[in-house]
Amino acid sequence: MRIGIDDTDSPAGMCTSYIGAVLRQRLEERKFCVSGACLLRLNPNVVWKTRGNAAICIEAEGDPDRAFSIACACVEEFADFSAENTNPGVVVTEERIPSGFYYRAVQGFCEISEAIRLLETSGARYRGYKNRRGLVGATAAVASELPDRTYEFLAYRKPERWGTPRYVERETLFLADAKTYPHTWDTVDRRNDAVVCVPHTPDPVLYGIRGESPAWVSYAAHFIRSEEPEIEQIYATNQGTDVHLIPGVIGALEEGRSYRVEGTVASLPETRAGGHVSVLLGRDGSTLRCMAYEPTKEFRDVVRALLPGDRLIAAGSYKGGSLNLEKMCVRSLAAAVEKRPPLCPACGRRMTSAGRGKGFKCRFCPGRAQAPELRSVGRAIRCGWYEVPPIARRHLAKPLVRFTPAERECGDRSCIASAVPLPGK
Ligand code: ZN
Repeated sequence: MRIGIDDTDSPAGMCTSYIGAVLRQRLEERKFCVSGACLLRLNPNVVWKTRGNAAICIEAEGDPDRAFSIACACVEEFADFSAENTNPGVVVTEERIPSGFYYRAVQGFCEISEAIRLLETSGARYRGYKNRRGLVGATAAVASELPDRTYEFLAYRKPERWGTPRYVERETLFLADAKTYPHTWDTVDRRNDAVVCVPHTPDPVLYGIRGESPAWVSYAAHFIRSEEPEIEQIYATNQGTDVHLIPGVIGALEEGRSYRVEGTVASLPETRAGGHVSVLLGRDGSTLRCMAYEPTKEFRDVVRALLPGDRLIAAGSYKGGSLNLEKMCVRSLAAAVEKRPPLCPACGRRMTSAGRGKGFKCRFCPGRAQAPELRSVGRAIRCGWYEVPPIARRHLAKPLVRFTPAERECGDRSCIASAVPLPGK
C-alpha cells in the first residue's frame, strides 16, 4: 500500500516531512514492513501552498485500515491546525492511482474534487481536514513516480528545541560538502560563503543533505556535528529533477506554471530598484520578460552580460507575467561590435566624424569615407548553461552538476566545446 500525507505545515512551524519520518518509525514499531519513503515537491507556484509545497508517500506492507488510523493519528498529533492555510489530507491506497495526477500537481493545478473522484474510483481510504485541500497533495504523492530521483537525508530536532536557534557546527557542513560534492549538492554555497542546508524557519528540520544516493547523503551527514537529532529520515525525492518544467512558447505561457522556452534577447538588460535584473526575450513577434531577482546574486551578472541577438533557452516559473529565471542556456552569442572612425583611404590617418549621417572626413587631407570601422569586442560570457547559486535554488530545480554531458550541449556545434560553469569550486 501507499500512504500519502500533505499540507500539515505552516509558516509558524511543523513540516510534512517530519510527520512522514514519525509515521515511518511508528509503522516499523508496529511491525509494518516499510519499503519506501518519498518526499514530493509539487507546483511551487500554487498560491495556497504552505511553505515548500511538499507531500510525502510511504510504501509499506501490512493492514491498510491500521495504517490509515496510525497516519491520521500522526497528522492529528502534529499538524498545525490553527493556521488558515493548513488543510491536511491523508490517503491510503492499495491500488495504483495513475501518475498523470501527480504530474498535473507538479506542473499545474488540480482540484480537490478531482482528487476525491480518483480516490473513490480506486477504493482508497482518505480523510481531508478543514477545507480538504491536502487531499490534492496526498493523492499526488501516492500517484507519484520518480523516473529521475535524488535523495535527501533529513535530521529533525527534539521537540523541546523547536523554535530555538539551531546548533550545527558550520565548518563540519563545509567539510561534508568538500568530501562528497558533486555526489551531494546545496549543502553550502561557497561563493556566497553561506550554509544552505540548515533552515531558519521554526520547523523541526535540523538540516537536510541532498545528493544522488542514500549512501552519499548518509556519508555526507556523518561528517556533521550538531545538536543530537530526534529522528533521521532518508527520502527519495523529485527535488533537483526539473520535473516542474514543461516546454513553452513565448506568447502562450500560462500563469503559475514553470517552463523551458527558447528565444532571442530583445532588449538590453536593465537593473531595477532592489537590484533585480530584467531582460526581454523575443520570438515570432512576442516577447517575454525574464527576471533575475536580487537573491540570485552572481547569476544576475550573467543576465546583465546579455546583448540583443543572443539566443537563449530560459527556464523558470511564469508568475505575474514574467519568467523568474532558475537557469538558462546561452545557445549563441551575438557579435558585439564597436564602431569608430576609419583610417583615411588617402593618407592613412584616423578620420573624424563629418557630422550625423555625413560619414567621415580627414583632418589632414580632402579624404572622405562613409562607413565606420567595425571592431569586434569580446563578450563577457560564453555559450553554455548558467544557474542561480545554491542559496537561491528552488527545490525542484535541477542543479547543473546533475546534467549529463548530452544535457550540457546547448545545440549549436560552436557551443558544445565551451565549458559549463559549475558552482564556485
Ligand atoms: Zn587623409
